[in-house]
Amino acid sequence: MIERTLILVKPDGVQRGLSGKIISRFEDAGLKIVGMKMDWIDKKFAEKHYSDIGKRYGKRILNNLVDYIKEGPVIAIVLEGVNAVENVRKITGSTYPNEALPGTIRGDFSHISKIYANKKNKKVGNLIHASATKKEAIEEIKLWFSVSELFNYKTVHEKHTQ
Ligand code: UDP
Ligand code: MG
Repeated sequence: MIERTLILVKPDGVQRGLSGKIISRFEDAGLKIVGMKMDWIDKKFAEKHYSDIGKRYGKRILNNLVDYIKEGPVIAIVLEGVNAVENVRKITGSTYPNEALPGTIRGDFSHISKIYANKKNKKVGNLIHASATKKEAIEEIKLWFSVSELFNYKTVHEKHTQ
């Protein structure tokens, strides 16, 4: 039941200076940071990370997304906690910020819609990536982090959150 999951503060989140606020949302919920780094990825790595997107959305959206994720550096974080994959997605909010509920990261810090983005041929800038399933989390953590970059330790409040 204790899981690990990957989040990325995407380039818009880093450039808007929202990294601290975004990370706080997860820390406040008692999720534990077990790995963290900044990286500026290239096209090849972006296509690996988003390997399912071409099939799901088509080439045009994939290209926009790859351009988006390599617009600037990202902060990659592995979070650990009870049902971490599902809980982190809940805190992140829906993919399209106009549909994301207030209180979620995407709902509070962005508002663009899918219709607007696709009409203007723009990215859906939604600040953060979060693994969608347990399988995706395992694959993404392996892609982004080596075993020696992940840490086991006790937080002072684990007693109360797990
Ligand atoms: N995306 C986009 N246009 C679309 C659909 C998705 O730019 O019409 C981007 C958006 O930034 C999203 C990412 O592609 O976060 C990955 O899409 P996915 O469906 O996996 O959403 P997520 O898992 O990030 O909620
Ligand atoms: Mg996804």
